[in-house]
Amino acid sequence: MAEAIDRVGFVRATRTLTPTIRLIEIEPVDGFVAPTPGSHLDVSVMIGDRPDVRSYSVVGPCADGAYRIAVKRLEASRGGSAYMWSLAPGSRLAHSAPGNHFGLTLGRPDYLLLAGGIGVTPIFSHALALQRAGARFRLVYACRSRSDLALADELRGEIGDRLEIVIGEERGRVDVAGEIARLDADGEVYVCGPIGMLETARRAWAESGRPPDRLRFETFGASGRWPAVPFALKIPRLGKEIHVPATQSLLDALEAAGVEMIADCRRGECGLCALPILGLNGVVDHRDVFFSDAEKAANAKLCTCVSRVYGSEITLDTPDR
Ligand SMILES: Cc1cc2nc3c(=O)[nH]c(=O)nc-3n(C[C@H](O)[C@H](O)[C@H](O)COP(=O)(O)OP(=O)(O)OC[C@H]3O[C@@H](n4cnc5c(N)ncnc54)[C@H](O)[C@@H]3O)c2cc1C
Repeated sequence: MAEAIDRVGFVRATRTLTPTIRLIEIEPVDGFVAPTPGSHLDVSVMIGDRPDVRSYSVVGPCADGAYRIAVKRLEASRGGSAYMWSLAPGSRLAHSAPGNHFGLTLGRPDYLLLAGGIGVTPIFSHALALQRAGARFRLVYACRSRSDLALADELRGEIGDRLEIVIGEERGRVDVAGEIARLDADGEVYVCGPIGMLETARRAWAESGRPPDRLRFETFGASGRWPAVPFALKIPRLGKEIHVPATQSLLDALEAAGVEMIADCRRGECGLCALPILGLNGVVDHRDVFFSDAEKAANAKLCTCVSRVYGSEITLDTPDR
């Protein structure tokens, strides 16, 4: 559920952290609401001449009353992140109060924090909060290359050797199952990273037999295994044929064509917008974290908010209700 965009702030400063990640400090005009670890702001962005909303995790406790967010500029995108990169000191932006779907539960005997790429932003706040609480934890931060590392020096300064950095080009992938095996039996894991990392963590967690609710994760949306391409969507029950451009989600295309949809999170977590698949010419790029591996392989349904077709056509049924 999106937060209400009912506040205004001004950009106080920006700092380029990596060639594609920029830190933006936002000074709120309507009063500062202290973020809890894992919070995000919803921000109004302009996509061409149309307003839209993007979410950005708050980086750190922001003790000086200014929100800090770090935005990764995506090339293959509709343009929300590029808009954020166009902001300069003095720019005005409309935003929400901090909302949190990735809150930290204190009091566990042990924690594993797993961050992949820009997924470090909420994990940064979790790490600082655990450090301040004197909790036992480790943070494994994976990036493709050393030049992608953001906030690593700040993290090292705050949490020292509790931070382990895994650079894909140098050391390959994180041994997620091994990391989970090292965790106390009553420990908790927090993961934020690309879909592959989330799926690996979910699989390893299930295989470890630990309680499902002790694995907590946040997805940033929609990165898939294949690039976004345009495709045709047929809904025989409604007699509709819809063109889904590369720059529009299936859900947005369905709603724009007047199909009544039920949706909530719009980032592949809740499964409310899933529809049954009747036919396919191509492969389904399942970009959600709602369906299990077996359900994705069975291809009976897809989450229309994030998943796409890499191919030419899909035939869907309407929701069973
Ligand atoms: C709770 C939360 C916290 C977040 N925190 C951060 C953060 O700290 N830093 C940060 O940089 N980002 C964060 N994000 C992501 C951010 O909100 C934006 O999604 C991101 O900036 C990309 O916006 P965009 O318009 O540039 O790209 P989009 O167009 O939204 O594209 C994003 C991804 O979706 C894919 N995609 C593009 N078009 C489509 C389409 N038509 N259908 C399906 N998929 C498509 C792209 O391949 C790309 O991987 C967060 C998201 C959430 C939900």
